[in-house]
Amino acid sequence: MTKEIYNYTVRCRTCRCKFEVQLFDTHEKNLFLVDKKVWFCEKCKKEYFEKQTRQLTDEHKNVGFQELVGTEKTVSWAVKIRSEMLNKVKYLRDSLIFDNDEAREKSEKAFTLFLEEWQAETEAKWWIDHRNMNVRDISKRIEELKLTQPIQKG
Ligand SMILES: [Zn+2]
Repeated sequence: MTKEIYNYTVRCRTCRCKFEVQLFDTHEKNLFLVDKKVWFCEKCKKEYFEKQTRQLTDEHKNVGFQELVGTEKTVSWAVKIRSEMLNKVKYLRDSLIFDNDEAREKSEKAFTLFLEEWQAETEAKWWIDHRNMNVRDISKRIEELKLTQPIQKG
């Protein structure tokens, strides 16, 4: 069976402009999609991503992170990855239980050192390359950083 390509006119949800899209399903399914899906034109899509990138960049600045360096597309992607990765750190930090204040303090210091390492990474590419880093990887690095701290004698 050969697949036909149809052009459909849809309307942008934001600016209400009309634009054409190509859909690849049956005519009936396509009509359903044209009707039900929320469409955004290229211009509004771009503005949406720019706004999202700005918002996330500002949020990250509040916790000590710099603006990322790269092309518009990579920065937009990388800042989203950074957001997810920071959520993983928060998740790990919130999940820890300590026997005593000393252990808690040591852990907090390791987290600070860890975030300092990340704060030094301002290339969008670095974040994209590390996007698969999971909670376990983060935890492993935190443990390593704990060992680098001098032992305190009371
Ligand atoms: Zn639009």
